[in-house]
Amino acid sequence: MTLPLLKPALYRAQGTPALPEHPALLGGTCRCGHVFYPWQSYGCERCGAAGDALTPMALSGRGKVEASAVVHLHASPERQAPFTVTAVRLDDGPLVRTLALASETGQGTGLVPGDAVVAVLAEVSDRQQEGSTPARALDLRFVRVA
Ligand SMILES: [Zn+2]
Repeated sequence: MTLPLLKPALYRAQGTPALPEHPALLGGTCRCGHVFYPWQSYGCERCGAAGDALTPMALSGRGKVEASAVVHLHASPERQAPFTVTAVRLDDGPLVRTLALASETGQGTGLVPGDAVVAVLAEVSDRQQEGSTPARALDLRFVRVA
């Protein structure tokens, strides 16, 4: 059985023609040429156009690390540390603040600026409903390209 996506408004399992085997991020493009993530219809961050000027666009899950930091302690006990927050510049343009795929040892992922990374779907506990038993779901992570 395939697990549900944790945030289906932000990404999909189906990739793009450029990178079919990895999940795509659901962004958009403006008629001015600006590419953004995530998808929204409020208006372009560059030129302010809204409505018909904005078009949904599936972004390739490939990019390069611009920054990376290991979080050793999180304010929420629900968040199991350590985990790695990383800023990935997608090949399609937008900068995405996201999580790196945890290593099996639980140590940092060792991502450094310039590393090529791709999006993957990783199994996580969905703790959005407080008090309920966490359900399993797939969430977006980034991993270094070997
Ligand atoms: Zn625009």
